[in-house]
Amino acid sequence: MTMTAPLIQRLAVVGVGLIGGSFALGLKAAGAVGEVVGIGRSRANLDTALARGIIDRATDDPAAGVAEADLVFLSVPVLSMGPVAARLLPAMRPGAVLTDGGSVKQSVIDAIEPLLPPGVEFVPGHPIAGTERSGAAAALRTGYRNRRCILTPTGRTGAEALALVRRAWQVLGSEVVEMSADKHDRILAAISHLPHMVAYALVNAVGSYDRYEECLLDYSAGGFRDFTRIASSDPTMWRDIALANREALLEMLDRYRNFLDVLRDDVATGAGEQLYEFFHASKQMRDAIDEPTREDG
Ligand code: NAP
Repeated sequence: MTMTAPLIQRLAVVGVGLIGGSFALGLKAAGAVGEVVGIGRSRANLDTALARGIIDRATDDPAAGVAEADLVFLSVPVLSMGPVAARLLPAMRPGAVLTDGGSVKQSVIDAIEPLLPPGVEFVPGHPIAGTERSGAAAALRTGYRNRRCILTPTGRTGAEALALVRRAWQVLGSEVVEMSADKHDRILAAISHLPHMVAYALVNAVGSYDRYEECLLDYSAGGFRDFTRIASSDPTMWRDIALANREALLEMLDRYRNFLDVLRDDVATGAGEQLYEFFHASKQMRDAIDEPTREDG
């Protein structure tokens, strides 16, 4: 019987939460990884990761955790990526590859590329997958199956490193798409970052309304709950995304405000025909979106 070597002998995951934990779990399940070292700050989360078999070893020291790794996956909030990378990059061995799963790409590239030691490659990435839950307890073995992962290589990204990271996401069942960091940040500002801002604002607007003794949220039913599920997402992660993708997010927030102003004017003036056309155009576009299949596990 011949044994083939796994794709990645040693993987280090920095930030063993939903995104990093799912990356490790899926690669382990596929036999694509030898040993997984988990790096984090709180012992409780690392213990959960160990108990769930997401990682084989745990440490709170980024430098010690990455020293032997072939691939290092960075999955901490985006504004922590630079400071954490500064601690671990000097300890990475030449030939090793750093990649990440951060939701904003240009700011992460700007923070990490100047710190790269000779022989260490960086492949910026972002899986278009996730939920409003966080921590190792929320990691999913099949969280990336039938999903997309966007890679945003730069002029400095080596072909071999890019191929390794691409292969890892394919093993996890994702379709890999490459684009520029700027395009990524603008697309994500529209389809992810803006909706989160709208959901957070909506819950605040309704939840703080105090004309009556009861909290209005107690009356929320299907529509409100569906629409605002993502307002349960981690506030640190979303503070970082809003600040790191400021310019693209402001463009989308202004655009959204313009559409809200049109809607408000039509409601105020009783412009029924315009309201109908507004809702009709929206329904047609929404109906045309294909729902991706989703399997959790
Ligand atoms: P998460 O579940 O909260 O996991 C983040 C992990 O990072 C936690 O386990 C946390 O553990 C650790 N951590 C936080 N700050 C750290 C630091 N300074 N040093 C070391 N470890 C640190 O969050 P997530 O949803 O996996 O998100 C991780 C990254 O993926 C973020 O950049 C996010 O933008 C991106 N992302 C998220 C989603 C999503 O839907 N959630 C989707 C795609 C991409 P300790 O607190 O114990 O250290």
